[in-house]
Amino acid sequence: MNFSAQNRPLLFQKATAQKADLLVIGGGITGAGIALDAAMKGLSVVLIEKNDFASGTSSRSTKLIHGGVRYLKQFEFKLVKDVGSERAVVYKNALHIVRPERMLLPIIKNGSLGQNSSSLGLWIYDFLAGVKKNERREMLNKEKTLTYEPLLNHDKLTGGGVYFEYRTDDARLVIELLKTAHQEGAISLNYCEATTFVYDTNGKIKAVEVLDKINNKTFILETEYVVNATGPGVDVIRKKDNSLYGKRLQLTKGIHLVFSKEKMPLKQAAYFDVFDGRMMFAIPRGEITYVGTTDTIYNQEIDKPLVSKEDVNYTIKAINEMFPTLNITPSDIQSSWAGLRPLIHEEGKGPSELSRKDEIMVSESGLISIAGGKLTGYRLMAEKIVTLVVAGLKKQINRSISTKQKALSGSFESETALLDFIKTNTAKSDLPIEKWATRYGTNTTQIIDKANSTSNDALAAEIDYCIENEMALKLTDFVVRRSGMLYFELPTLLNKLDFIATHFQLRLNWSMDEKNAQLAQVQQLIKEATTFE
Ligand code: FAD
Repeated sequence: MNFSAQNRPLLFQKATAQKADLLVIGGGITGAGIALDAAMKGLSVVLIEKNDFASGTSSRSTKLIHGGVRYLKQFEFKLVKDVGSERAVVYKNALHIVRPERMLLPIIKNGSLGQNSSSLGLWIYDFLAGVKKNERREMLNKEKTLTYEPLLNHDKLTGGGVYFEYRTDDARLVIELLKTAHQEGAISLNYCEATTFVYDTNGKIKAVEVLDKINNKTFILETEYVVNATGPGVDVIRKKDNSLYGKRLQLTKGIHLVFSKEKMPLKQAAYFDVFDGRMMFAIPRGEITYVGTTDTIYNQEIDKPLVSKEDVNYTIKAINEMFPTLNITPSDIQSSWAGLRPLIHEEGKGPSELSRKDEIMVSESGLISIAGGKLTGYRLMAEKIVTLVVAGLKKQINRSISTKQKALSGSFESETALLDFIKTNTAKSDLPIEKWATRYGTNTTQIIDKANSTSNDALAAEIDYCIENEMALKLTDFVVRRSGMLYFELPTLLNKLDFIATHFQLRLNWSMDEKNAQLAQVQQLIKEATTFE
């Protein structure tokens, strides 16, 4: 059975007909990773997500699979070692959406980095993270640094270093994980919100009441174990379970601004010093360059973090100091996003000092909550959680099965296979093969087939694929999280929005009112990504 919007009713039937071993609340990277690990070990798993998959923090990050060079400054060596070496695993298993990205570290007068300390720091990083020989750090003098990126501030620059990061599309990583988990038997339902816990006479959770937000109906899912992987929502769920004691979350907000390539024509990704001692990434990607992030304490509405005027001014000031000839102003912003880090509160620490380590909390009712962590470490977090669940289950489980070697849906076997695929198929058609291959991987062949047959239109073929294989139910699912158009191709999206809406209407039998309501949701998101208060 495909992971298709049309199969949603069947997935509901399956989910409610059984008592699951594990119910995962939250369809971000953490929940998706857990669903895959558990399904591979033979557990019956249901995952529920109250909005679309990856609609929380996992579509709003800096989109790097990284070892966290910056955590060296905080002496978090274990974290750097764990996530650093895990980079290679995530890359190998999802090669189409985890792409190597050379990162330039400019060294400036009176900056937080010196030539010697950066050299030593990057050497430690290479060592801890087990970095491949051809991706190890190289230190540069000022002239060489400027050949990598001529737009850097010539007056302030004293030298630089280069090292490797991996760039991903966070939302697509979640979707590929869920597609793979689906192939392994996990049932994942978007637009399903956990509303109430149901307890047995010993006070242990035995079921969860769920609201299906598409049909506005509630239903009960019975389960042995519940994992709360709701990211910034972890404490909201713990409160529902009356188990909000001990460690608590401290949310911090981070934003990114998107500029057209014409306005910000960077040759090279950079991780640069900001005037207040923090650091920021500027990452060219296709037709745009995005810059971020900020790190500020956040105590407002969890579901809708927005980019504020203050965030914009701070980020633009940082850009103009490092790339002074660009003269960026707020009117140059093409798009943006804001996300919340679900970190663990530590008394007396500022936002950037809070540890990014993950924490597991188990309540008396059996609710297992997981918070903190990084995209990069999702697989290791999942292993820890599933080990905990398996220890309590009474059935025979093959514990040795691991996700370490598990290629995700769409992954190519090697760089060569990816490049060959792009070359061969580009020669045969004028379809956007490279874009698709680094978005859908090997599954691109299915989109090519569709484009060459029934629909005969590239965009329609891509939409069809996402409806039929990626559970895209709404326009926003496609334009934000399946294709990333709202962030990375806003001018094209504005041009094609009517076409996309009409195609969805046709495929999902929407009434005119429904189509207009869906369009209004996209317009609202565009407004939020382009206007700032
Ligand atoms: P989320 O992605 O938020 O998922 C939780 C989900 O639970 C949400 O989709 C939510 O809708 C759902 N939910 C909530 N309540 C309910 C309910 N009642 N019922 C059902 N579902 C519910 N990490 C990196 O490795 N690299 C980076 O470059 C990086 N950059 C970052 C930049 C920023 C600005 C931020 C904020 C974070 C960054 N991170 C990065 C960290 C990383 O993005 C997060 O650690 C990760 O995405 C958290 O994923 P999650 O699944 O735990 O939470």
